[in-house]
Amino acid sequence: MIQVENIFKRWGSFTALNGVSVSFREGEVVCIIGPSGSGKSTLLRSINHLERHDAGRIVVDGIELDDNIKNIDAVRAEVGMVFQSFNLFSHMTVIDNITLAPRRVRKWSADKAEKVALELLERVGLSAHARKYPNQLSGGQQQRVAIARALAMQPKVMLFDEPTSALDPEMVNEVLLVMRDLASSGMTMLIVTHEMGFAREVADRVIFFDQGNIVEESLEPQQFFSSPSHPRAQAFLKQI
Ligand code: ADP
Ligand code: MG
Repeated sequence: MIQVENIFKRWGSFTALNGVSVSFREGEVVCIIGPSGSGKSTLLRSINHLERHDAGRIVVDGIELDDNIKNIDAVRAEVGMVFQSFNLFSHMTVIDNITLAPRRVRKWSADKAEKVALELLERVGLSAHARKYPNQLSGGQQQRVAIARALAMQPKVMLFDEPTSALDPEMVNEVLLVMRDLASSGMTMLIVTHEMGFAREVADRVIFFDQGNIVEESLEPQQFFSSPSHPRAQAFLKQI
């Protein structure tokens, strides 16, 4: 589904991604962990072309992310992204937040977009809140709206960048529940998270990032969390 081949991203003399190569299969749930500043967000943002990699290749569902705007739009239509800070449009109701992109990008009618949005709100447990504004909702509710908004575009892949890091502890679980449901529905998911219990439970694969590269990768999350091989991963897990 996604191929990342030897990508580099630099800001001045600082190297945020240092030759990262990795691929993700359809239906796979991959948790990406690692210290702050190690390049996790930059990798996700590059896959959605929020950052332009300096070198290397990224191919999503057969479409290469180059400077062709058509390709960028095509990839973005297939890749949903959820951020730590929700990023809802504060002047729009919940339902308008969700229907905006499908109407503009997919050219859906208002009726169709609204029907899909209401189904998604039901799925994330927010049917009663369709006509509210984001600032009338809790952080956990806003993040669930953000997930519904991303799903409304019917993406093939969902990227999550620390989706629960900005939430009060009592709201973390309601968001993780929605993500668990999505994982069991077969969605391809790349999740940057510090929720180790969640990662251990849902991940098909764990990737450990350090200083701009993947230093350990494991198809056995249980084993990785109990006995990581790389010294930096050992140190990280001890301190968290
Ligand atoms: P992580 O998500 O693992 O915490 P990031 O991918 O956000 O790390 O960032 C990796 C490094 O790149 C950090 O040191 C950060 O300061 C730097 N960085 C990120 N974005 C920019 C930018 N727009 N300009 C300069 N440096 C940046
Ligand atoms: Mg980050």
